Amino acid sequence: MGTAEQHVALHWSTSEEGDRPFILEPISGQLNNYPSFFSSERPTRIIQHSDDLVCYNTDWLKSHKGTSSLALRPKTTEEVSEIVAYCSKNKLAVCPQGGNTGLVGGSIPIFDEIVVSMSLMNNILHFDDSTGILQCQSGCILENLENLVNDKGYTVPVDLGAKGSCQIGGNISTNAGGLRFVRYGSLHGNVIGLKVVLPSGEILDCMNTMRKNNTGYDLKHLFIGSEGTLGVVTEAAILCYPKNSETAVAFLGCNSFGDVLSCAKIVRQKLSGLLTSLEMLDNQAADTLRDNLKINVPISEHPFYVLIEISGSDSEYNEKKLNECLTLLMEKNHVNDGTIATELSRIKAVWSVRERITEALLQEGYGYKYDISLPLNDFYKVVEIMRERLDKRVTRCVAYGHLGDGNLHFNATTRTFDPEVLSLIEPFIYEYTSKRNGSISAEHGIGYKKTKYLHFNKTQTAINLMKSMKALMDPQGILNPYKVLP
Ligand SMILES: Cc1cc2nc3c(=O)[nH]c(=O)nc-3n(C[C@H](O)[C@H](O)[C@H](O)COP(=O)(O)OP(=O)(O)OC[C@H]3O[C@@H](n4cnc5c(N)ncnc54)[C@H](O)[C@@H]3O)c2cc1C
Repeated sequence: MGTAEQHVALHWSTSEEGDRPFILEPISGQLNNYPSFFSSERPTRIIQHSDDLVCYNTDWLKSHKGTSSLALRPKTTEEVSEIVAYCSKNKLAVCPQGGNTGLVGGSIPIFDEIVVSMSLMNNILHFDDSTGILQCQSGCILENLENLVNDKGYTVPVDLGAKGSCQIGGNISTNAGGLRFVRYGSLHGNVIGLKVVLPSGEILDCMNTMRKNNTGYDLKHLFIGSEGTLGVVTEAAILCYPKNSETAVAFLGCNSFGDVLSCAKIVRQKLSGLLTSLEMLDNQAADTLRDNLKINVPISEHPFYVLIEISGSDSEYNEKKLNECLTLLMEKNHVNDGTIATELSRIKAVWSVRERITEALLQEGYGYKYDISLPLNDFYKVVEIMRERLDKRVTRCVAYGHLGDGNLHFNATTRTFDPEVLSLIEPFIYEYTSKRNGSISAEHGIGYKKTKYLHFNKTQTAINLMKSMKALMDPQGILNPYKVLP
């Protein structure tokens, strides 16, 4: 496996020492000046030992590593405010960290920024079971929120493979897409209120829980998807939806990507109103699962697979609509084999095929990971082009993604990091995407990894405006530096 150090060395050689505006003073000497709440619970809330800091300094993909010598674990908005105010006064850089499942190097320090981990901010504040609005602290784990609202007959609007570790604050800060986007849309639509600590340490309270609220600029949107560069999200109000009692999943095999597209079109038409997820994977993704995690697809081998989830309140109606749709797909020869799951354990087993691809890829060695959106007609062409460009230099080129949202996860793997492979992929893949009006980052964000490619999606005017907003809100540039902006 390509070690984190190898790749870090490559990236770090691009960050000149001179670019580094933040010199962390020796923290130990200053601890007495720290906000008083830390002194009573130092061992668990002030992390300073190098061994304990490894997980705060290393990203999920183990491809980036920072050198922070301090991680702090506040429990309240006021504590976050005190920390950030202190850092602002002393010009110390801060890296907000949620579940650290981000895939673009946004959640870890690049140099020695102080990590503000939100993991102890995990309290539920209120759930209104007549409106479905959930108020919680931002460090709540997504899966815990789902379980909590499920018990009250609701479901959260976002779901992703990392749900067991990612936090709602991280989801909001990355505007996470995920598996239910096709049904419930983006967090810009489902976040009703936010509380945020600004780079000065001031608290911005936008925790209004009214769905309709046209009172000037809707400031909360600035923090959704800004990856911790404009503020630290400490509390959120999320719109949850009544949970449909009946769910069914279909896993289908297709012989060509043309069939996948026809399948998607018919599924959208025939299952509208019931459709919760519309996902795809190719046979290379299936091979990666089989080889690295011993997980097999539940049907015979095909070049492509489509996963459909529907949910509604009437199982007979669901079944009827799903059968009608699948019969049509078979009659038209768009689908050659398939299986349906309606029991929870079977549904989970089918979903694990799609959800565990990222984990399977991690076992492969070094991963070159791309999260782009493209018009459906161009969706798979880029994979074929990349296979030709990379040929035998890579172990595999794998494609899977959120077909319902035009969001493709393209991954190439090698045993160890190979700069030549990287140069064959980047910037080519971003140019290709940009020329087709796609997005170079459909859901993972820009983080640290993609800042130099932002111009493929944003005009210079847009980048200038983003820089002006950052300068206005964070004039010292202390909050998550080196991220998002080039
Ligand atoms: C197996 C797997 C599957 C995934 N599937 C998807 C998917 O389907 N869709 C998708 O969109 N992503 C996916 N991801 C990526 C990742 O899980 C998401 O980006 C997620 O939203 C990150 O949440 P987190 O709590 O882990 O945030 P982190 O990784 O800790 O942080 C992400 C960014 O948000 C900032 N941040 C975190 N918390 C706060 C806060 N409270 N205030 C301000 N800034 C903050 C960080 O500084 C960083 O820039 C997947 C990742 C894995 C490992």
